[in-house]
Amino acid sequence: MIEKNKIYEFKIDGLGSSGEGVGRIDGFTVFVKRAIPGDIVKVKIVVLKKKYAIGDLLEIIEPSKDRVEPKCSLANNCGGCQIMHMDYNAQLEMKRKKVEDALTRIGKLDVKVNSTLGMENPYEYRNKAQFPVGILDGKAILGFYKMGTHDIVDTEYCHIQDPINEKIVKTIKKYINYFNIEVYDEKSRSGLIRHIVTKVGFTTDEIMIVIITNGKEMPHKKQLIEMLKDNIVGLKSVVQNINTKNTNVIFGEKTVTLYGEDKIVDYIGDLKFNISARSFFQVNPMQTKVLYEKALEYADLTGNETVFDIYCGIGTISLFLAQKAKKVYGVEIVEAAIKDAKKNAEINSIENTEFYVGKAEEVVPILYKEGKRADVVVVDPPRKGCDQSVLETIVNMEPKNIVYVSCNPATLGRDLAYLDEKGYKTVKVQPVDMFAHTAHVEVAILMTYCGSDKK
Ligand code: SAH
Repeated sequence: MIEKNKIYEFKIDGLGSSGEGVGRIDGFTVFVKRAIPGDIVKVKIVVLKKKYAIGDLLEIIEPSKDRVEPKCSLANNCGGCQIMHMDYNAQLEMKRKKVEDALTRIGKLDVKVNSTLGMENPYEYRNKAQFPVGILDGKAILGFYKMGTHDIVDTEYCHIQDPINEKIVKTIKKYINYFNIEVYDEKSRSGLIRHIVTKVGFTTDEIMIVIITNGKEMPHKKQLIEMLKDNIVGLKSVVQNINTKNTNVIFGEKTVTLYGEDKIVDYIGDLKFNISARSFFQVNPMQTKVLYEKALEYADLTGNETVFDIYCGIGTISLFLAQKAKKVYGVEIVEAAIKDAKKNAEINSIENTEFYVGKAEEVVPILYKEGKRADVVVVDPPRKGCDQSVLETIVNMEPKNIVYVSCNPATLGRDLAYLDEKGYKTVKVQPVDMFAHTAHVEVAILMTYCGSDKK
């Protein structure tokens, strides 16, 4: 039996869902942050539960063959990238294997999982950064939270963000230090500047800076705008968002444009998207294109099909599909996202889409009862996967193809097992790396109807 505070040596043989190493001591599962499969480690047990333990990494006795020096000097401290110390090709294979394991173990399916489609340059890929603002020794600090805490790790340069952020961070620090602007303190709930959020249009180079404040004042506003304009090429929009609540949620309700427009523009493929301070947009636009092109390929459209895009967000996939389908119905729970979806259809002059707000588990059965049918169904659900009534209605609609885009292999396995039983055979499985150096896995699946008597 393993004991708390004791030190053990063992080999790491897997990765947990947050990118932590997983190993076993006499068959008992131990999670170790910053360890990767293949490492032989010396670990002190700090948490001991009935079914698992958590250990602090004291020493890597023998490094895994996949261990590399992370490009970022803050990698061991910052909570942003969990597996930057793992070779990129090994990361891609790990993600492929994670999907394969879930489909075999949970889905009981015997399918080939393609190699993960990775990035040629897996850095500088994020188009959105969120920096909490703090103060240390009287000087402003901006950065990311230390893993599992709200301590700010001061970060001048983040390797997965667009390089322009370095200039933005420096300029904001200069403004705070020069004018002695108070920064927000979570404990006392006093001070003004809470967060800086930046958004970059990757194909347009347009830049938006959002300053989130605890209160509606914006001291030395004119000078702030001048400083940003002087330093940031491509600056299109500076907005203030006011959040006076005691919450971890970054954005408040009210947004005021301080300079330029209230939005920037970006393209995925030929499609144009308006991005405002609060609207959702995929954070890795290059790989989003790769993923959605896969989804479109799997949908196998000829121009005559009616398509359902369930969990459609701002309609990115819907609009991709609409270019090749007769009609696309999108369903999404967040009202603001549906508003964006409709706007996005309009600015792209796409007229064969219809969007519905509501819970998919309620809206999709209603649309079915009204007589709507789908030749192809695309689902892109949140981590908890598809609701049972959504899956049942999909089966009732008898589409020829189902395309499942998933960010969680475990719920994907569960849902595919159900659809398999109903005659939908999984024919293609394509992981795509959307979030290099993190443990997130994204995958596109094609299922085709093969008849319910196949078993
Ligand atoms: N395909 C979208 C993103 C999908 S992310 C895009 O390309 O942008 C999953 C989406 O499911 C989110 O937008 C989330 O708001 C939505 N969602 C979560 N629960 C839902 C539910 N019960 N019914 C409908 N939509 C839901």
